[in-house]
Amino acid sequence: MDFNETMMQYFEWYLPNDGLWWKRCAAKAENLAALGITQVWLPPAYKGTSQEDVGYGVYDMYDLGEFDQKGTIRTKYGTKEEYIEAVRAFHSAGIRVFADIVLNHRMGGDELEEIHAVTDDPENRTEQVGSEQTIRAWSKFTFPGRKGKYSRFIWDHRCFSGTDWDENSREPGHIYRFSGKQWAPETDPENGNFDYLMGMDVDMSNPDVVRETKKWLNWYLKETGVDGLRLDAVKHISFPFYRELLKDARDGGRRSLPAVGEYWSGDVERLKYYLDAVDNEMSLFDVALHYNIFNASQAGADYDLRTIFDNTLVRERPQNAVTFVDNHDTQHGQSLQSFVDDWFKPLAYALILLRQEGVPCVFYSDYYGNPVKNRPMVPNLGKLIKLRHAYAYGSQEDCFERADLIGWVRRGDEEHEHSGLAAVLSNGEGGSLRMKIGERFAGESFRDVLGGCPEPVVIDAEGCGEFRVEGRGLAVWVRESAFEDLVVNE
Ligand code: CA
Repeated sequence: MDFNETMMQYFEWYLPNDGLWWKRCAAKAENLAALGITQVWLPPAYKGTSQEDVGYGVYDMYDLGEFDQKGTIRTKYGTKEEYIEAVRAFHSAGIRVFADIVLNHRMGGDELEEIHAVTDDPENRTEQVGSEQTIRAWSKFTFPGRKGKYSRFIWDHRCFSGTDWDENSREPGHIYRFSGKQWAPETDPENGNFDYLMGMDVDMSNPDVVRETKKWLNWYLKETGVDGLRLDAVKHISFPFYRELLKDARDGGRRSLPAVGEYWSGDVERLKYYLDAVDNEMSLFDVALHYNIFNASQAGADYDLRTIFDNTLVRERPQNAVTFVDNHDTQHGQSLQSFVDDWFKPLAYALILLRQEGVPCVFYSDYYGNPVKNRPMVPNLGKLIKLRHAYAYGSQEDCFERADLIGWVRRGDEEHEHSGLAAVLSNGEGGSLRMKIGERFAGESFRDVLGGCPEPVVIDAEGCGEFRVEGRGLAVWVRESAFEDLVVNE
């Protein structure tokens, strides 16, 4: 039997640096599978600039917690063996694992090099503002602790396009472009050209870099057994690069390798442009939908709920959309902070979990809560995930007629027993919507599994019901049999 796919981002920014994360992942695999999770996205597994690095300050991609480098063998999350053990545990539970792949930049170089460089205007990187000078940069990576195991490749300034740090002047706020190098032309156009993000910017136009990266990816897939990739910061990487890398890694279709890219832009046109540029070789996180959800949570009753899917990837390219509510970057205190307000979170999760389009990604901190940032668990999120897995099937019809009250039905199918549901959301005073769930349900009663509306709804002879919701709330109506499974047997 086919089930809906549901991904979980199984980490957040503020996890403790105790080296026990991979073990915790392995221990949770069976529970997550029982909940209805079919894919997990794990944090970057390779060595960063220090033990507490979250994983995005990449130092050595061949060190998955195996070598004594940067003052530690393990990473924040544990050792290489423990990582591979966690992947195996997820596989035994029937869950596919997505590895977080960070290729845009490197940090924590082992040796300084003297490099000729110019400075570009940080606000418009197509504008050179300083003449050529000699800088000293941490651009040589020899990985002394690894001693050439797996790869003898040494990274030096020829592998990079630029940096933001000169050890001579030690002045922040500059962007140095190495002489003879250009920023990759096919990247995001923000700031004139957004190739440069941070650290030592990897030069994807260098064929040695491309060859080494292809070799590394094949090594990584073989060594770890991961099933898919979450690609970091794709808007800062030459667009043709991932198109070619993914084609190469899939070996002409002999290897299935789902991939989802992080292109951080709320402009759906940018997202579509990128998908075209990479021949749709990947999906993208629907950042446009995230911002709609964030804005709806801020605006309250002033937001027109009928427009929630306007200009989103999930509407315009549903086959390539991974939908999400929040992630480790939108958390409080992080670079892209835009955390959805608590009251709207269950509504937001209904919008991504109970519909036909897109693969939804549930954020760890929303499911478990976050003690460090004092964030509560999202109420009923577990129930919504189970609802998706078991009952959110069949054709979908929207009732998006009122600005403050929207709903839709899933009519169920033969394959999934007791399937079919009606979801109703309100950002105002609440109310009810008459929706057609199907004549085959005539006479049957439906119940709100979230408990806000205790009185059942009986489906009339035309297959319609009057489905209610409370003010600023969410109601999900299911058949009595499903209700018993979700509420009575919980
Ligand atoms: Ca770049």
